[in-house]
Amino acid sequence: MRRIDIFDTTLRDGEQSAGINLNTAEKLEIAKQLERFGATIIEAGFPASSPGDFEAVQRIANTVKNSTVTGLARAMKSDIETSWEALRGAEQPHLHVFLATSPIHMEYKLQKTPDQVVDIAVEAVKYARKFFPTVQWSAEDAFRSDWEFLVRIINQVIVAGATVINIPDTVGYATPKEYGALFKFLKENVTGIDKVKLSAHCHNDLGMAVANSIAAIENGAEQVEGTINGIGERAGNAALEEIAVALHIRKDFYGFETGINLQEIKRTSQLVSQLTGVVIQPNKAIVGKNAFAHESGIHQDGYLKNRQTYEIITPELIGDKTEPLALGKHSGRHAFKDRAITMGFELNDEKLNQAFAEFKKLADRKKEITEDDLFVLFTDQQIKYKDTPVYELKNVQVQYGTANIPTATVSAVEPSGEVITVAATGAGSVEAIFNTLEQLVTGEVHILDYRVTSIGKGRDALGEAVVNLSIDGEVSIGRDVAQDVLEASAKAYLNAINRHLMKTASPVRAAVVTESN
Ligand SMILES: [Zn+2]
Repeated sequence: MRRIDIFDTTLRDGEQSAGINLNTAEKLEIAKQLERFGATIIEAGFPASSPGDFEAVQRIANTVKNSTVTGLARAMKSDIETSWEALRGAEQPHLHVFLATSPIHMEYKLQKTPDQVVDIAVEAVKYARKFFPTVQWSAEDAFRSDWEFLVRIINQVIVAGATVINIPDTVGYATPKEYGALFKFLKENVTGIDKVKLSAHCHNDLGMAVANSIAAIENGAEQVEGTINGIGERAGNAALEEIAVALHIRKDFYGFETGINLQEIKRTSQLVSQLTGVVIQPNKAIVGKNAFAHESGIHQDGYLKNRQTYEIITPELIGDKTEPLALGKHSGRHAFKDRAITMGFELNDEKLNQAFAEFKKLADRKKEITEDDLFVLFTDQQIKYKDTPVYELKNVQVQYGTANIPTATVSAVEPSGEVITVAATGAGSVEAIFNTLEQLVTGEVHILDYRVTSIGKGRDALGEAVVNLSIDGEVSIGRDVAQDVLEASAKAYLNAINRHLMKTASPVRAAVVTESN
């Protein structure tokens, strides 16, 4: 069976999308989960774009061992050198260098002639090969490029030493038939194409990213790029979990394998959603809440007689566990620790003790602790702030009645260490809380978006709040969980403020580079 490599760019193309802003600890957690998920390659970031990206790529490169770690670089010496510094500690250092090849990008964005573009690409790949054993070269906006020009430039970058050639549909314009035809054309016309790996990278503007990726595979691509939950700029990237499950379920038709550990899909999807604050639509294929729900009477009847009447994928396949845990308020620390280990968490003693204390508190209030709850608990310990002083919620109290004006009183620890208590009113309970918190923090805050969802099922499920706000003109997303949605909302608000503080406390993000493929 032909093997298809899965190239995950959740932390680069995904992270780059509007409003998402992960810190290093969160990126590291996602990278470790992507390693368990079985991604062949993890694109950890764009090292030259900011000190924060550099640090994250470096830590991931030094930590992840079973997946290849790569970083993105523009076709320029300084980007390649910075990337080498970030990636040199990796098991198999790998670089992803790109340059636009479509007429519109060359003329307006790069302001270079096609001949100049060929020279720049060749120089960049040659230079990259001085450091990196494997170099992927991407023709940004390849799908809208002239096919003959693509053949010409790819011929040259292969001679220069590129080991992987990526053909992105940067703007999500392709149809499966055309995109497949482009791969076939390159396979037939590029000299030495069999010595390199061809890669597909699709965006979902017309809802065809996954179909296009699979069309590329059918026509010779050996690598597909995408993100978990399909997050990414605009309409997002190809959803990797959909590609992996489609190739698995329809193995009879396609005959490809990916090496993805399908059992890790659910957890990977949840973690990415939890840390990015990007909610998964309920009807999303594979990982949506309703992806396995059977509502209509006829369907339910058939399903109960024989699951296969309406079910082509089982929840078990993707690691969706529904049975409650044999853990409760009487469970000991030892059983709790064992559970953390089986779930793939490596917590030090201090973090484990804190997680255990949180678990006891939760078990007092909640009848059944589910794996979803534990996952949230362990993840929160892993990504706790360390160095930067931040705001911390001490107490929130809300007075609400349909005939009264809602009033909130909040006590919180300020970054200076001082505890302060403030109160304010609002049109509703949540607004009252937000108005109160606004008095507490320094800076001008506007709420852009706010959502509450439940984690897991049942009336005592944990509530998760996501707050998208702007502070002094900069967008920041915060999220947190609590058994009460009002408490979760207050914590999510402060989380957004704290993320902003952490970002401004570390070296300022350098001018954001807007090119991408
Ligand atoms: Zn992209």
